[in-house]
Amino acid sequence: MDYFLTEDQKMIRELARRLAQEKVAPVVSELDEKEEFPWEIIKELGQADLFRVFVPEEYEGLGGKTFELCLVTEELSRICSGVAVSYAASALGSLPIILFGSETQKKRYLPQIASGEKLTAFGLTEANAGSDAAAIETTAVRRGDKYVINGTKQWITNGGEAEIYTVIVMTDKKKGSRGASAIIVEKDTPGFSFGKKERKMGIRASATTELVFQDCEIPAENVLGKEGMGFIIAMKTFDASRPGIGAQAVGIAQGALDVAVGYARERVQFGQKISSFQAIQHMLADMATQIEAARALVYATARMIDSGVKDVAKESAMSKVFASDMCMKVTVDAVQVLGGYGYMKDYPVEKMMRDAKITQIYEGTNQIQRNIIALHLIKEAASRTKK
Ligand SMILES: Cc1cc2nc3c(=O)[nH]c(=O)nc-3n(C[C@H](O)[C@H](O)[C@H](O)COP(=O)(O)OP(=O)(O)OC[C@H]3O[C@@H](n4cnc5c(N)ncnc54)[C@H](O)[C@@H]3O)c2cc1C
Repeated sequence: MDYFLTEDQKMIRELARRLAQEKVAPVVSELDEKEEFPWEIIKELGQADLFRVFVPEEYEGLGGKTFELCLVTEELSRICSGVAVSYAASALGSLPIILFGSETQKKRYLPQIASGEKLTAFGLTEANAGSDAAAIETTAVRRGDKYVINGTKQWITNGGEAEIYTVIVMTDKKKGSRGASAIIVEKDTPGFSFGKKERKMGIRASATTELVFQDCEIPAENVLGKEGMGFIIAMKTFDASRPGIGAQAVGIAQGALDVAVGYARERVQFGQKISSFQAIQHMLADMATQIEAARALVYATARMIDSGVKDVAKESAMSKVFASDMCMKVTVDAVQVLGGYGYMKDYPVEKMMRDAKITQIYEGTNQIQRNIIALHLIKEAASRTKK
């Protein structure tokens, strides 16, 4: 399908596609097997200016666009979504600064992120606060011109590898969700360390780690927006980042379809290529159609965000939920097309199926996305009735 990309967008997509083929494909199994953070590849992406795509031009970026971020994430995910998420999590960690940072904060951090010199991470989740993000227990207490942070964040992508962390903390527990704040924490700050590094089902090249704060003192000027804005910042960040998860899902599914089609054209059973069996053809046709539908939704949402539409929570949730459910189904079907070979590590589809699962879980589970969509539908209907 033609999405009428600009020449620049085509160039960015080609560059990401080429790097994924040349630099990621040869090491994808090794990264997965060893659960190794892909530093060499991250450096290559930085040198190719791909971290600049999601940073505004004023801060040494190429425009700060969601659409371009989705293109790069999709192309990397086609080959290895562990690499893709290490890249995209840096956009997630940067978004609170891009959307809510002061001029000083933007000037200090964004150019280093744009160059790929420093990765970022976003820390919200805790052991007792997953979907119920307002239940976070990590506190930041104001003392003079500093905040003192205590608590532990868990499952933070790029944890330990990133230099810059945007973290959601409770500054006034009494106020509930209005008592949270977003604060920037730099890696080498005393009192900030990294706990358990998780071993995972998929996206194993990415780092998922605890962030541990013990009397960690942060200058008050590192607060993003104002004290009490933490949840608004987190929610607006997710609204802008969820199409990126959609793009990750589209990329994984496309990669799985590519392998399945190639395999079906080679594998001979009953004296003929399995691609000549209608049962296989229909599976491939459904996979391709579902991928295209998800891609169209993700791209349309990214374009809405880039054109400045203010409330994209519903569309953002729709693109994440649709693309990730599609991805899970398509990767399972890809394994089926390959039969027993699909189950073996010699072929990439088993990894793709493992990688697909996370897209239904992180940045808000698909149940939570459906809650968001339904809430918006009901609100929209109520406001129509009022008129
Ligand atoms: C690999 C990985 C990387 C991650 N990276 C990050 C990161 O970089 N930063 C970060 O802050 N977090 C990160 N997370 C956390 C992730 O966002 C959470 O796992 C997710 O939000 C769900 O929280 P939970 O796992 O605690 O599930 P829970 O909230 O405990 O949910 C368990 C089940 O109950 C369902 N459920 C819960 N509440 C409701 C409800 N109200 N209605 C219907 N169903 C409901 C859920 O959908 C789910 O099926 C990561 C997680 C993983 C696994």
